[in-house]
Amino acid sequence: MAMINENYIKLPGSYLFSEIAKRVDAYKAENPDATIIKLGIGDVTRPLPPAVISSMHKAVDEMADEKTFRGYGPEQGYNFLIEKIIEFDYAPRGISLNIDEVFVSDGSKSDTANFQEIFGLENKIAVTDPVYPVYVDSNVMAGRSGSLGADGKWTDLTYMPCTAENAFTPQLPNEKVDLIYLCFPNNPTGTTISKTELKKWVDYAKDNKSIILYDAAYEAYIQEDDVPHSIYEIEGAKEVAVEFRSFSKNAGFTGTRCSYTIVPKEVLGYTAAGEAIELNKLWNRRQTTKFNGVPYIIQKGAEAVYTLEGQQQIKSLVDYYMTNAKIIREGIQSTGIEVFGGVNAPYIWLKTPKGQDSWSFFDKLLHDVSIVGTPGAGFGPSGEGYFRLTAFASKESTEEAIERIKTRLKL
Ligand code: PLP
Repeated sequence: MAMINENYIKLPGSYLFSEIAKRVDAYKAENPDATIIKLGIGDVTRPLPPAVISSMHKAVDEMADEKTFRGYGPEQGYNFLIEKIIEFDYAPRGISLNIDEVFVSDGSKSDTANFQEIFGLENKIAVTDPVYPVYVDSNVMAGRSGSLGADGKWTDLTYMPCTAENAFTPQLPNEKVDLIYLCFPNNPTGTTISKTELKKWVDYAKDNKSIILYDAAYEAYIQEDDVPHSIYEIEGAKEVAVEFRSFSKNAGFTGTRCSYTIVPKEVLGYTAAGEAIELNKLWNRRQTTKFNGVPYIIQKGAEAVYTLEGQQQIKSLVDYYMTNAKIIREGIQSTGIEVFGGVNAPYIWLKTPKGQDSWSFFDKLLHDVSIVGTPGAGFGPSGEGYFRLTAFASKESTEEAIERIKTRLKL
């Protein structure tokens, strides 16, 4: 008899986005003429930059010729891409990395979900609340979560509330935790962390032999000078942190799939007998066993991000979305609603007016002005009373949405 991993059935269904779809469908059925604007999803809408497309076309032609055809590539990624990642994304910030500390992969979603595999089940996990759900669900699947309480929290996870009261900055937990997931710029709150606050986490991890899993998928959106782009800008972080980056949001690779994870050699985990083991070796073992690399054509596309034209083109992509973020932020602010994020991230996190709960505000926005956003409660208990709008729609739709909110939303 095939026994299942029962941790999978502990997970509630994907309630958030299916519930949104259900409510939107019901609204459409009642209001067939309404033009709905979606500011809910975290997917990009602009096409891939021309430099990426032209590099991928050339790579396709190489695959058609037996002299340049490529089969399996290195599981860790081709050196041509890794060298560019180090040269452009880390060296200019004074961070030196070796080629074998960079692992190219098919997405930060898979890497942030899979990384927990190389750790024992006894580790205590800490997550921010609200949170990108992948960190939580992957640990539930592995069996580290305990059970889901009526308060919406897993009994064995440590939650670090991030709300307006603490300026969306996670506070060090009272209990000892072993694996800490941090994401900055943050999804869903759109807020960042200062170097001083991040240093507290690095120091905590050093003192407790913990590991920080730092998701910097939105790094390209940072506009302000003093915001850290990489956790390795913090002294000592190379001993305690793994960093995840993606081409999804800076270069439009959400459907093309390419990302990378930095695992410095200095980061150590321990056996029950107390022997220190390099996480880099374990992650390399995991990847070489379970992953066969990102396609050559895709890595050639990602390499083109680092050409002069590529750099200019991704900057204008980010500028495009950040103009939308500004339109949303300033437009919502002008209605008197309290707004957070949207300065160094494509997410705007607003406080629902008059103490409405997240889902009531969702319904109001849909019914008053035909706009779809995401209820904050869907990202964790501390997201209740908040609401997420994204800057990834077209500029025209974003402007239209804000105009509707300003003129027709009955607050
Ligand atoms: N990390 C965060 C915080 C995200 O919001 C997302 C996507 O929305 C991802 C990772 C996934 O990135 P990728 O497309 O590289 O899998």
